[in-house]
Amino acid sequence: MSRDTTIRTLDALETLGLLSGDKVSVLAPVVDRYALAIPSALAKVLRAQGPDTPLARQFLPDARELVTTPDELDEPIGDGAHAPVKGVVHRYPDRVLVKPLHACPVYCRFCFRREQVGPGGEVLASDDWAAVLDYIRATPAVREVILSGGDPLMLSPRRLGGLLDDLEGIRHVRTLRIHSRVPVLDPERITPDMLAVLRRKTPVWLVIHANHPEEFTPAAEAAVASLVDRGIPLLSQTVLLRGVNADLDTLSALMRRFVDNRIKPYYLHHPDRAKGTSHFRLSLAEGKALANALRRSISGLCQPTYVLDGPEGQGKWPV
Ligand code: SF4
Repeated sequence: MSRDTTIRTLDALETLGLLSGDKVSVLAPVVDRYALAIPSALAKVLRAQGPDTPLARQFLPDARELVTTPDELDEPIGDGAHAPVKGVVHRYPDRVLVKPLHACPVYCRFCFRREQVGPGGEVLASDDWAAVLDYIRATPAVREVILSGGDPLMLSPRRLGGLLDDLEGIRHVRTLRIHSRVPVLDPERITPDMLAVLRRKTPVWLVIHANHPEEFTPAAEAAVASLVDRGIPLLSQTVLLRGVNADLDTLSALMRRFVDNRIKPYYLHHPDRAKGTSHFRLSLAEGKALANALRRSISGLCQPTYVLDGPEGQGKWPV
C-alpha cells in the first residue's frame, strides 16, 4: 500500500502549487500548531481544482487559523468533563465514545479536536485499553460503543479487528459505531481485510464524515459501494462550514450525493467554537435558515438532523 505518500509539509504543498496566497513563512506557525496531512489522492483532486476552492478550504492551512476569538475553546464540546477513564467519553447513559487513537488521514482545518489530533497520534496503550474495557464491562447500561478519535480506520485491520473483538466480547454491547473520514478521503484503506473486519455478528454502523459533494471521487464511491455491498450500514455526518458548504445548492448536492451512494444523511453539525476557526463559522440564525431551506427543497430521505453541541459537555441537541 502507498501509505506514506501523504503530504505533510508546506514545501510539498508549495511544490504542488497548493498554497492559496499565504507564503510558507506566514503559514509555518499555523502548521507548527495544527497538524497538516493531505493524502496523495486528495492532493491530486485539489491540484486539478486549484487551492482556493470550497473543497480545498477544508484542508489547506490558512493564516487566519492563528486568530483566536474570545469565545473559542480548547475543548469546544467539553469532552473532558465526561471522561471516566483515559480514552472514554461517557455523556449519555446508553452509549460511550471511545478514542483509540488521535491520528487522522487528513487534518481538517476546522476540527473541534484540533488541539488533540496529530501525526503519530498516540494509540491507547494496552493498559489503557484494558481500563476502557473494564469500564464498559462495569457499566451495563452501555449498549452502544462509538469509536472515534482521530480516525479508527487508520488502524490496521488486524489491530482494529482486535479492538472490535474485545468490545464484542462484552455481553451488553449490542451496537458498534465507527466515525471515519477514510472511505471518502483515503479510500485505499478500505481493503478486503478491512471489509472482513467490519462485517461481524455485532452490527458495525459506519458514520462517514464528508462536507462537500466533490469529496466523492470515483475511488471514494467505489470504497463506499464495497462497504454497502458487504452489508455495513452507512450514515453521514457533515459540519456546516462558511466558504465550503454553507449554501443551499452545495448542501442539497451533498445530501443527495450521500443518498446516491446509499448513505443515510444523519447529522449536520453547527460548527464548534474550536480555536482558530472563526472564518468557517456562521451564526445559528444562518444555519437554521439553511436547514429550513433544505427541508423545503429536497426529499425527506436526504434530510440530516441539524444539531448543536453544547460547549460545556451538555451534548448535542437538534436545533
Ligand atoms: S478527520 Fe475528524 S478528527 Fe481528524 S482532523 Fe478531520 S474532523 Fe478532526
